Amino acid sequence: MTSLWRASRAPITSDDPVERCNDVVVGAGITGLVTALLLARAGRDVVVLEARDAGAVTTGHSTAKVSLLQGTRYSQLLRHQSEDVVAGYVEGNREGRDWLLRYCDEQDVAYQNRSAVTYAADSGRGLEQARAELEAASRMGLPVRWAEELPVPFEHAGGVVLDDQAQLDPMELLEALVDDLRAHSGRLVTGARVTGMGQSLRPVVQHTRGRTRCDQVVLATGTPVLDRGGYFAKLSVSRSYALAFDHPSPPEMMLISAGGSTRSVRDAPGPRLLVGGDGHATGRVRSEREHLDHLRDWTATHFPDAVETHAWSAQDYRSHDGFPFVGTMPRGLGQVHVATGFDKWGMTNGVAAALDLSASILGSQMPWSRPIHRRISRPAAVARLIGINARVGMSIVTRTAGVALHPLQPGSPAEGEGEVGRRGVVPVARSTVDGRTCAVSALCTHLGGVVEWNDAEQSWDCPLHGSRFAPTGEVIEGPAAQPLPARRMPDAEQG
Ligand SMILES: Cc1cc2nc3c(=O)[nH]c(=O)nc-3n(C[C@H](O)[C@H](O)[C@H](O)COP(=O)(O)OP(=O)(O)OC[C@H]3O[C@@H](n4cnc5c(N)ncnc54)[C@H](O)[C@@H]3O)c2cc1C
Repeated sequence: MTSLWRASRAPITSDDPVERCNDVVVGAGITGLVTALLLARAGRDVVVLEARDAGAVTTGHSTAKVSLLQGTRYSQLLRHQSEDVVAGYVEGNREGRDWLLRYCDEQDVAYQNRSAVTYAADSGRGLEQARAELEAASRMGLPVRWAEELPVPFEHAGGVVLDDQAQLDPMELLEALVDDLRAHSGRLVTGARVTGMGQSLRPVVQHTRGRTRCDQVVLATGTPVLDRGGYFAKLSVSRSYALAFDHPSPPEMMLISAGGSTRSVRDAPGPRLLVGGDGHATGRVRSEREHLDHLRDWTATHFPDAVETHAWSAQDYRSHDGFPFVGTMPRGLGQVHVATGFDKWGMTNGVAAALDLSASILGSQMPWSRPIHRRISRPAAVARLIGINARVGMSIVTRTAGVALHPLQPGSPAEGEGEVGRRGVVPVARSTVDGRTCAVSALCTHLGGVVEWNDAEQSWDCPLHGSRFAPTGEVIEGPAAQPLPARRMPDAEQG
């Protein structure tokens, strides 16, 4: 499925030389490209290595609200952390937003000024959460206000409003970043998947286009792709959905619900209406398509004139304590840096991370990041960490046991379906899409989780840490660096 932003333009690809440089930035989403640009502007020789094309993963599928009001984030963060750590988060996001909008002004990237709203979806828990967010955001110095009535056609019990935020087309932004990077002698190599790294005195990055020796490496890959530091065990991964519609008069505000299943609403030039939400842990639902249908039904009820034009889904990562992980990786000799855990607020957090990482590589520090780097996890965050890993453990037990009992039968699944079963002792994932039947190992190449069929994206998704694979086994996203190996089909299908 392709997002509104990606459907209307050619993929951003580039084949610059990959040899020696000062800095390798891995990943050409918002975080990697802003980091690379800041380093290139400071005179460093930078190469960006991108496994697919720029914006192919989360950034190009974002709803791209650029906002300091972020759902119910402040009330959640304040529950687990002191005010000075949360204040660092707010300041980092403010600098991220301001840098981004100044950049859009300089580079003629269009954006629309909009009020951000966290609305109470009901007068029970939703209202309680929205009110708590009003209180928390005010405590953090944001000029929020309460509105009893919002100009929207769906039920609500008031909402928190923060004026003067923005929304944009993330692919238009990435195009400007790539052009600007190359104008500053930075290089972008797409179709180059990083598979490992050697490090004696200096890092040598191994990738599918060769090896690149450098001084510093930045992993801006969504979830980190090298398993140092065990970040995958401290992150939960959530997929959510978005639909774009032609609509004559969408609300000209950026809304997100508090209470119940998330609904996120914004407009876009056209005019268009965007509706998102209905997130869940990757690879742990019966049908992804059902989640898209929930959004369709909700939209049909509240915006009967809406005509669907695009549908897509994407995932993002949340750390156990809710704060992004930004900084040097353990065992990386201070030469390997990482940025992850934006929890679906990466338009500002990704830029904040880029400001922080580039400052650190250039020998300084953003003052607001100090309390965040020094934070100590509180008991509630430690409990969340245990919860994340307990759910992973449950998934291993139930999924592996289910597959062990289910032999694959000859004959292929129906068109557009996938099935996992055992052939001998080996679990095999078999799918048929566009008339092509493929059989691949059902064991994720990251940590051996048994993959699940995603019936919306037609991909194999790992319920452990969110790695995703095409029916043919190629990596789409997540911490896995190697494809699922091909397997022999059950006999009746051979040819
Ligand atoms: C549905 C949805 C809606 C969202 N809406 C908003 C919003 O309204 N506002 C907001 O602030 N945030 C939003 N977010 C979050 C935001 O989009 C993300 O946090 C942000 O885009 C992450 O950017 P990134 O550059 O860190 O990661 P990505 O955009 O995922 O970029 C990482 C890149 O690394 C590449 N890569 C991965 N592994 C390798 C490898 N081994 N070798 C080479 N390259 C590799 C990938 O191909 C990818 O291009 C949303 C997220 C989702 C899922």
